[in-house]
Amino acid sequence: MLLGVVLEVPAERKSVLAACFHFQEEPREATMNRCAAVRSRGATDQCPTPAMNGHSLCGRHARTRGPVLWASLHKTPGVVRIQALVRGWLLRCRLALAGRRVLCRKNVVNEEDLFTCESKHRQSPLQYFAFEELGKTYWFDAKGIWTWVSRSVTPVNPYTKTPLTNEARKRLRVWGWKNRMTCSADTPSDMMLQRWNILSQIFRENGFTDAHPHQFSNFDSSDYRTMFVFLERDLQIVLPEKDIYRDKLIRICRRGHGIRDSDIYTLHCAYLLLRMLSIPRDPYILVFSILSAFMRC
Ligand SMILES: [Zn+2]
Repeated sequence: MLLGVVLEVPAERKSVLAACFHFQEEPREATMNRCAAVRSRGATDQCPTPAMNGHSLCGRHARTRGPVLWASLHKTPGVVRIQALVRGWLLRCRLALAGRRVLCRKNVVNEEDLFTCESKHRQSPLQYFAFEELGKTYWFDAKGIWTWVSRSVTPVNPYTKTPLTNEARKRLRVWGWKNRMTCSADTPSDMMLQRWNILSQIFRENGFTDAHPHQFSNFDSSDYRTMFVFLERDLQIVLPEKDIYRDKLIRICRRGHGIRDSDIYTLHCAYLLLRMLSIPRDPYILVFSILSAFMRC
């Protein structure tokens, strides 16, 4: 994780130690990084003295003209550098899902999280989620807002009661899928409602604005099995053979053929549909095919 930040460090401080210092959010007094220079000219071991606050060198080496950096003598192997670049890129992707001000929490509206009461300075960047509303940034504990959003077909900002934008909902959903979030509820019926809420949100985002969980509550298990049979046939027609997700989607459809007559068949069906909808980047064709298959049941 730290190596991913190396690329953002100014050139004159481009050392692993400097990057560590750059990334830390703890008060500067708490950090005791070692000086980034070698002990003395001609030596290859690192200076053991702690670096000065706000600097990557100790007081002696900071005054030295042209100090030799330990990292410049110990070149990182190519494979490790590639790993660092990939890790940095993956970390940036995760931080992009968190939203604005994930690393700089100065101008956010709320000082504490609504669900956990955690301070904005102590919230982990990987558990942070923020969205903009009228130019203001509201931030939340990502798990808390994920659960909040799954409890309604039209989720709102808890502070202003304004409906969340499609962009915020989609970004949060991708965060949830990447973090293997599941619906947390006390009873199967609540969990079922949460799953169908998320499904209805996806249907609405793709143009089917009247989608609602009640529309799917009257189907019995044989209807769901029939729906998956229709859906499999439709996907074989509408998705081109070169589509990289085609086989995976059809395999999940075939799992739907075996939905059993039990108390939780709608839960199982919702799980399979959510699993399918999490795969393509643009799910419009899949949403259209699913709703079309439901209409024919
Ligand atoms: Zn030193």
